[in-house]
Amino acid sequence: MSNLTPFLVANFKANKKTGDEISNWIDTVNEKVEDFRGTVIIAPPYTNLAQTDWKLKSINSKIKLSSQDLSKFEQGAYTGEVTASLLSDLCAYSIIGHSERRQNFNETDEVLETKVQMATSAKIQPIFCIQAVDTLIPKGVNVVAYEPIFAIGTGNPDTPQNAKEIAKKVKEKGEYTILYGGSVTAENVKSFLEENVIDGVLVGGASQNPQSFATIIEAAK
Ligand code: PEP
Repeated sequence: MSNLTPFLVANFKANKKTGDEISNWIDTVNEKVEDFRGTVIIAPPYTNLAQTDWKLKSINSKIKLSSQDLSKFEQGAYTGEVTASLLSDLCAYSIIGHSERRQNFNETDEVLETKVQMATSAKIQPIFCIQAVDTLIPKGVNVVAYEPIFAIGTGNPDTPQNAKEIAKKVKEKGEYTILYGGSVTAENVKSFLEENVIDGVLVGGASQNPQSFATIIEAAK
């Protein structure tokens, strides 16, 4: 799968949105995507995936769909789990290793390696989150999001200079597409993307409102 950059990911986290809100989000954002040469990805909660997929197809949108996680198990007798094979008809991507999952669900390096394997065997491309330059990156990962914990949802982003230094160091380890995530806004997105060291951004808070995410796309053009 080609990763056209800039690569912009909207992570809705576990925030509730009605069908109408999702539909309106897609219509608003899609206007900015039509002449955008990069990749735009929406990661809604599991419960919104099918409707989001239906809406994207109904308007022939270039926006791609991602899950926010997937199970470490294969499909079968794992009540409540959402496996890679269940997601594979809907999602081209899956966020794996987000710090909120590492912290709240004790996801270890070993578990995350298994999740990456599950994703790639189901032809889902992992968007793998690292919190520091030495976070383990499993084999099979092409897209890495550097997301320092202090910057997530705090309004206190890393400096573009430091984020670029980290991106350079990660790129020395392999041919990765590198994203930055942590309090990205329409005002600061350019500073992370200029100089072409960082290939895109993963956006939580500022992606909830479609106008604000549309402004981020416009700034990234
Ligand atoms: C995220 O959810 O990955 C994230 C970066 O959140 P925020 O943009 O709100 O810091």
